[in-house]
Amino acid sequence: MAERPIDRARLTVLAGPTAVGKGTVSADVRARYPHVWLSVSATTRRPRPGEVDGVHYHFLDPDDFAGMVASGEFLEWAVVHGRNSYGTPRGPVEERLAAGRPALLEIDLQGARQVRQTMPEAQFVFLAPPSWEELVRRLEGRGTEDAEERERRLATAQVEMAAAAEFDRTIINDDVTRATDELVSLMGVDQLGTPSR
Ligand code: 5GP
Repeated sequence: MAERPIDRARLTVLAGPTAVGKGTVSADVRARYPHVWLSVSATTRRPRPGEVDGVHYHFLDPDDFAGMVASGEFLEWAVVHGRNSYGTPRGPVEERLAAGRPALLEIDLQGARQVRQTMPEAQFVFLAPPSWEELVRRLEGRGTEDAEERERRLATAQVEMAAAAEFDRTIINDDVTRATDELVSLMGVDQLGTPSR
């Protein structure tokens, strides 16, 4: 089947199971492709060491987050792992696309499904681990969550793995640099500031 031509003002949505390395791929996009515009999500989660407000997330208290939900300021939002809320502020994404520039969202599966409802023309990319065993190893190796939280995230990941078929493309995260390059190439922005095709 012929692939869809790259739309240069397109929204790309990267999702995938927990601990697959979405955050690492995003960080690599920021570091090596600073011209690629990545949406900064809002969250009620507390910052982890090294995370900077306004760069990695907008860290909000639950009341402020609820206020943004009530006033329709999120393109999508979800409670992730049954605990914290995460959402994509609508304004910056719409401005970016209106200016004819591509944009990238790194969000969870529930959020990706919401975007599919409202912006079906977006490109949906699933980041997959090389294997389930590797995903479990990565989740256990991260060491930032307690045992109960790890169990919760594993349960979420199992359901999320089944969702790959809903996506336009799958990228296997066998190597972060390679996966990032593939993602940026799919966005058509791998040359500095100019669409690659
Ligand atoms: P973490 O707390 O490890 O940074 O992220 C937890 C999960 O939240 C990840 O699966 C990440 O993709 C997801 N996430 C981050 N930002 C957003 C967002 O704006 N919307 C949604 N729906 N999920 C998000």
